[in-house]
Amino acid sequence: MEWSRPWDQVFQWDYPTFRWFLGGKCNITANCLDRHVNSPRKNKAAFIWLGEDGTERIFTYGRLAQMVNRFANGLKSLGVKKGDRVVIYMPLTPEGAIAMLACARIGAIHSVVYAGFSVGALRDRILDANARVIITADAGYRRGRKVDLKGITDEAVNGLDVVEKVVVWHREATDGSKSSDKEVDFDELLESGSPHCDPEEMDSEDPLYILYTSGTTGRPKGVLHVHGGYMVGTYYHFKTFWDIKDEDVFWCTSDIGWVVGHSYIVYAPLIAGSTTVFREGAPDYPSPGAAYEIIEKYGVSVIFTAPTAVRMLMRYGESYIQGRDLRSLRLLTCAGEPLNPEAWRWAYEHLCGSGEWGYMTDNWWQTETGGPCLATLPIMPTKPGKVGKPMPGVIADIVDREGQPITEPNKGGLLVLKRPFPHLFRTVYGNPERYAQDWTRIPECYFTGDVALKDEDGYIMVVGRADDVLNVAGHRIGTAEVESALVSHSTVAEAAVIGKPDPIRGESIKAFVTLRMGNDPSQEMVSTLQAHVRHELGPIAIPSEIDFVPTLPKTRSGKIMRRLLKAQELGLDPGDITTLEE
Ligand code: AMP
Repeated sequence: MEWSRPWDQVFQWDYPTFRWFLGGKCNITANCLDRHVNSPRKNKAAFIWLGEDGTERIFTYGRLAQMVNRFANGLKSLGVKKGDRVVIYMPLTPEGAIAMLACARIGAIHSVVYAGFSVGALRDRILDANARVIITADAGYRRGRKVDLKGITDEAVNGLDVVEKVVVWHREATDGSKSSDKEVDFDELLESGSPHCDPEEMDSEDPLYILYTSGTTGRPKGVLHVHGGYMVGTYYHFKTFWDIKDEDVFWCTSDIGWVVGHSYIVYAPLIAGSTTVFREGAPDYPSPGAAYEIIEKYGVSVIFTAPTAVRMLMRYGESYIQGRDLRSLRLLTCAGEPLNPEAWRWAYEHLCGSGEWGYMTDNWWQTETGGPCLATLPIMPTKPGKVGKPMPGVIADIVDREGQPITEPNKGGLLVLKRPFPHLFRTVYGNPERYAQDWTRIPECYFTGDVALKDEDGYIMVVGRADDVLNVAGHRIGTAEVESALVSHSTVAEAAVIGKPDPIRGESIKAFVTLRMGNDPSQEMVSTLQAHVRHELGPIAIPSEIDFVPTLPKTRSGKIMRRLLKAQELGLDPGDITTLEE
């Protein structure tokens, strides 16, 4: 790894703030691109991109570097400079990654908003980051359907003076008309820039990106990562945990809208000089056998996916695997949600040949940690259902509310991290108090928000969230976000949202709604509210069930008791209800 100036001090810990590689100067893109372009890897495939319709586009390191530099120069010509925030609302395409790298190249801070989010979510994130420039596309594709990203963007930026330019990548034929004088054509901007753009020299601790994730409040939390530590930490795990070598073909099924896509589609694989496959659209479209075809065709050797995808393949059954050669697959890793033993066993047997050619392991992390923290390394025996042990460099523990370690095996407690590692987030953008809360709720620990337990061998099992955050198909969604989307509809007085176990998606969303006077419950009202949540937050946040209730259970202090709703829904013991008002 190259630094333009070496650091003077490795680590400084001034609880709850910390810094790594003090005094060091670098730019993460110099290690993602320049280092390879000046080596025999110049003509190696960096990205193999696949569209749902079978389109294939291959980008060598040389070509990718040229495009990133051109686009970086294009952004400069729009006046974007170091420290400016740029929102990227792009489908999972090389252009999305190019936009991210171009921002990093010139020191701008990117904030990628997942293309499955919708108007309200996009607008909130633009406003929170005060973004001057938005980069988007005319269309994204999922299950053959076109998603009108440009239309959503136009609605989201309507009336926002802070936004100066909207750069639009046209995948479809266009007549060149523009919806406002803020609009700039992506390809024209790219063509206008020279293919040489020196990387901006960044301090090791300068921000690289903001990525919003769900927390316990209605407002998403802008997790901030920096150039130096993130570059070192994500690469370290890529080389040690995934053990990536030049000859590997790595396929990451995440999206650039999530942290896994940031770290393991874009940054770490490029730093490592590897070949990464990524694909737009649904994994089972146009056929449930699509994944097997890709493994065989490209000789994929390492996969990073989520349990929800494995459970989906398991549901379709083994018939789709027949006739496919999966022997190239040496490692299958999952993260994002608990990996249930049944899914592990199925994938180990059918995708890894029961160990004959492959191995399957779990790893735990979150947006804030930038890379994996707990895992079963391929040299460790797997215990299906348990994620594994703390990885090198990570000090994790399970404690009670006072921060006292729970020593009794298999007793549940709170999962905490005790010492910052280089790629841990530095703050919550624009909200240092919220960052400090993460480090003070449990004394002297970073509280992950998760409940976990440790067995007699030190293997950790992550049970789920301790807070009101749902995990739907590996994506974090705050109950408060869905509730505030529901109550923003004119017919809704109050709403409470809970997660229900779902065999494929981990959890599904159920909402309890009280309507304002003069509105009556009906199936049509359910559809209206579902469409409203889709519009505000996007398809992943749509409640699959909505019950209309005359009133919601509340504590005497007026807090909605979701725990009670959940217990009733799942037929569980409601626990202590002494604080219930009625
Ligand atoms: P996100 O920040 O969106 O990546 O979500 C992180 C959350 O997903 C964690 O706090 C956990 O609740 C959950 N999670 C991630 N990986 C795992 C895993 N391997 N096992 C269980 N839960 C996980």
